Amino acid sequence: MQKIAKTILLTVLAALFLGGCQSNMTGYSRSFFGMDTIINISFYSADQEAAASALKDAEEEFMRVDRLTSRYPALGQTAIIPGSVQDINAQAGQWVQLDEELFALLSLSLEWAQKTEGAFDISLGAVSDLWDFANGGHIPEPQELEEALSGSGYAKITLDKAGLRILIPQGMVLDLGAVAKGYAVDCVAQKLKNIGIDNGIIDAGGNIFTLNKQYTGELYTIGIRHPDLPGEIWQTVKTNDQAVVTSGNYQRFFMGPDGQVYHHILDPETGYPSQASISVTVVHKSSTLADILSTALFVMGHEKGQAFSETLPDTKVLYYTD
Ligand code: AMP
Ligand code: MG
Repeated sequence: MQKIAKTILLTVLAALFLGGCQSNMTGYSRSFFGMDTIINISFYSADQEAAASALKDAEEEFMRVDRLTSRYPALGQTAIIPGSVQDINAQAGQWVQLDEELFALLSLSLEWAQKTEGAFDISLGAVSDLWDFANGGHIPEPQELEEALSGSGYAKITLDKAGLRILIPQGMVLDLGAVAKGYAVDCVAQKLKNIGIDNGIIDAGGNIFTLNKQYTGELYTIGIRHPDLPGEIWQTVKTNDQAVVTSGNYQRFFMGPDGQVYHHILDPETGYPSQASISVTVVHKSSTLADILSTALFVMGHEKGQAFSETLPDTKVLYYTD
């Protein structure tokens, strides 16, 4: 089987390194690996020391969220962090104590699972595991898929708001893969703003957030890659303190022995890759919500998803249809 292919979906077209009218401003950037992708953070600053420290803080913040939300241990990790997603999964069948942060993210995820009638579902880890996208991919037997699916379903998750606890049934594996990166990007953006960085780009592959405007006062321009024409831009969007998030069937996939392409966005009703869409891009001030929505709208398909998105305030949605 063909190895997983990953494509960079979005690209920053803005003239980030514009020669400046403010000559004291210098461009700073840092790249690192997190959530199975290359993250790049860049901004302009007049203070070299503050900029270096902000980049370091931003990376630490991203990796903190990764450790909290990932269902896989990080490289070199020896123990499960109490109250993390790994902890919840390891203790399926028992109540697990959470802190307010993860409780809030899980509550939001369940709220949107309901609103999207289950198109977005954080309970599909056991089903995703069967497809094994992380190791080149594998087509599961229908029976094992059915079994994994029967133990899944967001409605079987219980949250205890007063006690800040969660209970998932045995056999269920939480997978926050469709929301965690968006949330991490929001956390990094907030961190940078708190430090006093007032421009910049957080680029996490299919998730981009632009802080305010460029320091020159111009809006950022984000290019969305063409799903069918490698190297070409399909559309551009201008952003002002907004996230641009894409879910596509070409981000993570493998070619089966039957010649068919199997990708990572699953239809929660069948456990098979959703055939409803090719690519959906969402522009929103919350990267977390844009991430949730891009996955949900992918599964809903163009007609239903477009109608649903029109009920949501300040949400720009771009479906690619061939
Ligand atoms: P995204 O790239 O944000 O659309 O998220 C896709 C990732 O979320 C997959 O790699 C899975 O880990 C997980 N996932 C797959 N299907 C769904 C779904 N229907 N709802 C929520 N998460 C999903
Ligand atoms: Mg998503």
